[in-house]
Amino acid sequence: MTAINAPGGRDGPRMTNALTVDVEDYFQVSAFAPYIARSEWDGRECRVERNVERILALLETGNAHATFFTLGWVAERYPGLVRRIVAAGHELASHGYGHERVSDLDHPSFAADIGRAKNILEDVAGVAVHGYRAPSFSIGVGNLWAFDSLARAGYLYSSSIYPIRHDHYGMPDSPRFAHRRDNGLLEIPITTLRLFARNLPSSGGGYFRLLPYAMSRWMLNRVNTDDREAAVFYFHPWEIDVGQPRVDGIDLKTRFRHYVNIGRMERRLHSLLADFAWGRMDDIFLRPVH
Ligand SMILES: [Zn+2]
Repeated sequence: MTAINAPGGRDGPRMTNALTVDVEDYFQVSAFAPYIARSEWDGRECRVERNVERILALLETGNAHATFFTLGWVAERYPGLVRRIVAAGHELASHGYGHERVSDLDHPSFAADIGRAKNILEDVAGVAVHGYRAPSFSIGVGNLWAFDSLARAGYLYSSSIYPIRHDHYGMPDSPRFAHRRDNGLLEIPITTLRLFARNLPSSGGGYFRLLPYAMSRWMLNRVNTDDREAAVFYFHPWEIDVGQPRVDGIDLKTRFRHYVNIGRMERRLHSLLADFAWGRMDDIFLRPVH
């Protein structure tokens, strides 16, 4: 593995961080998989389109660009939405086809999933797709072969490793920042803060909703100023949707993680856009500016 710098992120007085959105609907999250069968997806009320439209408006107001890791399943049903993402100047990337964890797939089925997603996204949008994010950060020590599959499928980078300890995912001993895997594929992990000999999750998802905003801002600032690295922040369209149908019968931990502070999320995103400069993954990590 080779560490790489992110020169685009270091240009100018304010570092540009990478903003990323995992485009999926509330009923597709992995933690709901035991409660909602895939065969039920088509019968659920879809809310992803209106939520992504709100995010596009939010980014326009905040003068920010982002990378949208989009499910092939969503692109098939909402091709106009995918084209609007691209027309607004954002990067289109792949979140796989049907939100299956890489750790649940064998080589042929993973290759089929990432190839299918890339083809659908490129056909719908008419742009090349270079980036991939594994559902639930499900690339880890048990399936590093996935990087070879991604390179073979034509992806240039992955943002699939979360170097923390977590009951559903994580690879705590993996490098914290962008690095080349042995096969040349670039891996750009979700950002953590190194504190007290541990990697703390500091860049999105449930942690961002759970922690006070000032804490999240402090952690991102530390990464920019102490590590001198661009941060990679992620969130989901359903995280700003207070009106989403509640899923019944789920366990308390899943319920808490999914719904905690959803009503505060949009306001926090406004603050985040005001307090930091945000750009696309490919602009920051694939295209050196000098
Ligand atoms: Zn996802």
